Formats: sequence, structure tokens, C-alpha cells
Amino acid sequence: MQAPGHTMMRVPLTLPHFLERAARLFPAVEIVSRLPDRSLHRYTYADFYRRARRLGEALLREGLRPGDRVATLMWNHFAHLETYFGVPCAGGVLHTLNLRLHPSDLVYVARHAQDRFLVVDDVLLPLAEQVCGEVPFECVYVVPLTGRPVPTDYRSYEDLLESATGHWDYPILEEDAPAGMCYTSGTTGRPKGVVYSHRSLVLHTLAAALPDCLGLSHQDVVCPVVPMFHVNAWGIPFVATLLGCKQVFPGPHLDPVSLLDLFAAEGVTVTAGVPTVWLGVLDALRREPDRWRLRLRTVVVGGSAAPESMIRAYDELGIAVLHAWGMTEMSPLGTVSRLKSTLTALPEDERYAYRAKQGLPAPLVEVRAVSDRGEVPWDGRTVGELQVRGPWVAASYFGGEEPDRWTSDGWFRTGDVVTIDPEGYVKIVDRTKDLIKSGGEWISSVDLENALMGHPAVKEAAVVAIPHPRWGERPLAVVVLREGQHAAPEELRAFLAPRFPKWWLPDAFVFASEIPKTSAGKFQKAKLREQFRDWSWD
Ligand code: AMP
Repeated sequence: MQAPGHTMMRVPLTLPHFLERAARLFPAVEIVSRLPDRSLHRYTYADFYRRARRLGEALLREGLRPGDRVATLMWNHFAHLETYFGVPCAGGVLHTLNLRLHPSDLVYVARHAQDRFLVVDDVLLPLAEQVCGEVPFECVYVVPLTGRPVPTDYRSYEDLLESATGHWDYPILEEDAPAGMCYTSGTTGRPKGVVYSHRSLVLHTLAAALPDCLGLSHQDVVCPVVPMFHVNAWGIPFVATLLGCKQVFPGPHLDPVSLLDLFAAEGVTVTAGVPTVWLGVLDALRREPDRWRLRLRTVVVGGSAAPESMIRAYDELGIAVLHAWGMTEMSPLGTVSRLKSTLTALPEDERYAYRAKQGLPAPLVEVRAVSDRGEVPWDGRTVGELQVRGPWVAASYFGGEEPDRWTSDGWFRTGDVVTIDPEGYVKIVDRTKDLIKSGGEWISSVDLENALMGHPAVKEAAVVAIPHPRWGERPLAVVVLREGQHAAPEELRAFLAPRFPKWWLPDAFVFASEIPKTSAGKFQKAKLREQFRDWSWD
């Protein structure tokens, strides 16, 4: 037997390889971004390579140390892609801030992550300004997307790139070194940080690219509609760069017509986003079926359940909906629903039922469903909490919060309640947590309840997710008033308005004499959800 170490080379799995490969093999392939003024910015991988490397070099000159967090507050476009590589290839950690968070949450997250630098789109400066005063960023770099001069309090991202010489070697990077970071939110407590390593991103990229997962190739033109601050746009920019795909970014223009115009103009073949986006796009396609000449072959749908009716409707248009499930803690890819070769002869309804499930675990991802009585059988009926394990599943939260999310035998508790069928397809039947997912973004029911219960006329309030045809779910508040008190829905909305983003505010307030409770005195939200399941939003 050979001694250990005499088998294969131990090459660290790190991101610089992606940049080098793309620039060497695909220098002329384009990266196209829609800018705020709707014009198109286009350049090639050769340009992207030069600029991403300049960013890395310049940040090191600015004093970036290994593992330092660099935050971004940006839409999907070329400069955000540059940070995806420039920051980790210099040994930094890219922390993508969710621009839909309330400023107070952004402050919490940026402070918790100890972000040292911020890169922000000029069009997002009004939001950044509500945050910067309370976060000790050492420097804020502004990307001049509009071409307007950068305010003197900040530095221009372009000047930062200019300050680099262009002659630079990557620092030595260990494959387990941190590369990226994203925050998730929970029903209880604050958002929690998940830190991705070079190795986990590389392995996730390889698996995501596989034909049975996202199924991308160099021939594809890829447009992530899912924000680049939402779990690395599901890893798509990494996959596309490794393979050298043409990349297309929508910038801030996410309405169906703008998206379809972009897809048609740039020949997009694969796109991805939450169901809400694709329901809107479907409406637009039905309204004007002849308006767009599309090359679109696959729409990756995740973040919330893809309705079966939507999968069917896209099939009629010759576009395959690929239903995927994942989490921030899973980088995010967990399962993908593709029909097995042994199931293709099933009747149509059964085939669609499989495709509407969340799908089969990706290679290297292990799944099990666990109830109070232990691991449940894969019978498609018995429910249990989904637990997962794999090389791109978080081993802990940043700062070590909620260690009990990991089992003593090393699995991550997802908080999703599922069945697993004999074929291995996972189906999400509920969430253990009571968060509300509206248009792909979380709303914390507990935060809303706590605020509502601060109103002098309110005795108790529970906020629950109710299915909504456009947004997936919207919050409905069930309110018990104090004896002899009055408060109209408009008044309660106005009371919440200063504390939350507008889209967090409950769309309906229902007054009740009591809220059902468990023996421990907790609100029984499952009961409320059931009670208001068929709520009519019009
Ligand atoms: P996030 O970390 O924000 O990506 O949210 C992850 C959670 O979103 C999961 O735990 C699920 O509850 C939900 N989720 C993600 N994808 C799907 C899907 N395809 N179907 C149903 N729920 C999903």
C-alpha cells in the first residue's frame, strides 16, 4: 500500500480557478447588465477578469486582511459579479446585504458580521445612508451606475479599481477559508449568519451544474432574477463563471415586461427566481403571446413551492419549470425535482405530482425526516422534520447562535416538515417555523405581533401566513382588543407603518374574542392558518 498522500494531488478547491479558467478559455463571452436608466452595459469575461482582479488587489492595498468582511448593497449586475470574485480571491469574505431589509435590521446584520467595507450602488445610497451612521464601515465605495458624480463623503468604486496596478498574485488560500456570508432570518431572535468556504462554494458549483441538478452548460445564456443577495443568487453566478456561460443581469428592473424584453434581446436560455416572479411573467406571456421571441428553455423555481398549475402552464409554452428546494444554510441547493427515467411512463397527472414536489436530494446531500419517534419511513405519507447533511451545509451559525439546530449526530434541522416517498422525492408539507414568505422574502410574524401588541387598544395579536395568488403568502393579523377599546384596521396599519417596510404590513386585520393557544400558552398558529386558509384578498 502507498503511504497516504501518494494517491492524487491535493489541489485546494478555491475560487481563483474559476476566474482564471473563464478568462483563459472564454475571454470573448459577454456579460450584460441592465442599468437603472434601462441602458445595457456589456463587456466580456476578459474585462470582468481584469476588473475583479483589480478589486482584489485594491482591497488588499486598502488593508483587507484574511477573513475580513466586505459588504455589498447592490442589485444584480456586472459590478456585483466583480465583488463575488474580487473579494474572496483576495482572502476577504463577501457579505451580501439584503436591500429589502428594514434599515434597523441592516444595521444589526452589518454590525453582527463586523463588516469593514461596504460597496453600494449609487441608486441605493439613500438606503445606505440610513445604515452607515450606525455601522463603523471603514470605507464606503460607491458604484456609479448612473454616471452621476459620487458624493464627496464616499469613494468611487471606479477610483478604487483605478488604484490597482493590475500586477498581482492571489494570496495563498486554504480551501476551508471563508469566502462568502449571508444572513437568514428566524421566527425567534435575530437573523443568523452563514459563512460559506471556498471549498463549499466549489463543490456546490460542481453539483449545481450537473445535468440532473440545474443542468447548465457553456452553451447557455444565464440570467439570475433571484437577487445576488439571496444565497449567492442560488449559486448561479459561480456556476456560470466556471462554465463560461454568457451572463445577463436584470439590474433593478424586475417587472415581467422588462424581464421578457431582456430575455428576448439577449437570448436567455436559463433563468431562476421565486414563484411570484414567474406567475407575473406567465400573465404577461398570456396577454401578449406573440410579443417575445424567446430561447428560454428552463426556469428554475425555488424559495417557495412552485404551484403545479404553473409547471403545467409553462410546459404548454415549451418552457420547463425546474422546481428546487434549498436554504441559506445549504448554499442553497438541497433538492431538485426532475423526473427519474423509471417514472417517465407514468400517467401525466402522476408525473406532474412528482415535478411539483421539492425533489430528489442533490449528489452529496443526504436527507432524512425525523419525528418524535425517530427517523420516519420513506413512504410518502409519514411526516417528519427534514434534516440534512453534506459538504455545503452550514456546520454552525456565525457567532455560534442556536447550536441546537444541529443534532448530536451531526445533521442540520431544516425546520421544514416533509414526507419522503419511496422514490426519494421530498415534499414539503409545512414549516415548523411560522415565518411568512411574500414574494420570496421573509416577513417575521413575531416581529409584527410584538409591535401590534404595543398598541394601547390591543390585547393579543397573532400574524399568520395566508396563501396569496400573487405573492405566495401575505400576512393576516388576528387581533384581540382590550375590553371597551376600539381600533380600526387603518389605525393599526398606520401604527405599524413607521417600524416596518411597507410590504411587511398585514394586508388584513381580523378581530376575534380570543386566539387559540397550546397547553404551554403559545399561539396555535396552525389553527389560525387553517381557519383563514380560504381568505379572499379582493
Ligand atoms: P431561505 O433560507 O430564505 O432561502 O429560506 C429557506 C426556506 O424556504 C426553506 O426552509 C423552506 O421553508 C422554503 N423553501 C425554499 N424552497 C422551497 C420550495 N421549493 N418549496 C417550498 N418551500 C421552499
